[in-house]
Amino acid sequence: MTQALTQALTQALTQPTPASVTTAAATLARPPGQTRMHEMSLAENVREIIEDAASAQGFRHVRRVVLEIGELAAVETDALQFCLDVVLEGSVAEGAALEFVTTPGAGWCAICAQTVALHERYDPCPHCGAYGLEVRAGAQMRVSALEVD
Ligand SMILES: [Zn+2]
Repeated sequence: MTQALTQALTQALTQPTPASVTTAAATLARPPGQTRMHEMSLAENVREIIEDAASAQGFRHVRRVVLEIGELAAVETDALQFCLDVVLEGSVAEGAALEFVTTPGAGWCAICAQTVALHERYDPCPHCGAYGLEVRAGAQMRVSALEVD
């Protein structure tokens, strides 16, 4: 039962999503040092991306929005969900299901000379304990898929 549902969902997500939606998806970086309610401007950017895709591709309704959020992006999904509910009202994505997918963080350790897993921005290297890793992945958020009518 659960498996069948998951399969149907995966199909629905991969099937009708036009390829260009993914390429149109801008990468939304969080400016360093900013802490509160950045989620509202992220939500506004998400709406712009969706509306640009809608006018470029002629769909009128979005049923599902998949957002990839980096582990180091410091985006509060509860706050983002709230902001999206407000911001998407009256848009082509009003009432759309929102799915948040966490992408792993990674940093470059100069001592180990390799990319290592990084779960918090200022964590030390898990191998040698050095600080000051350079963030290489997981600091951004993007719209990764839209399920549209
Ligand atoms: Zn290291």
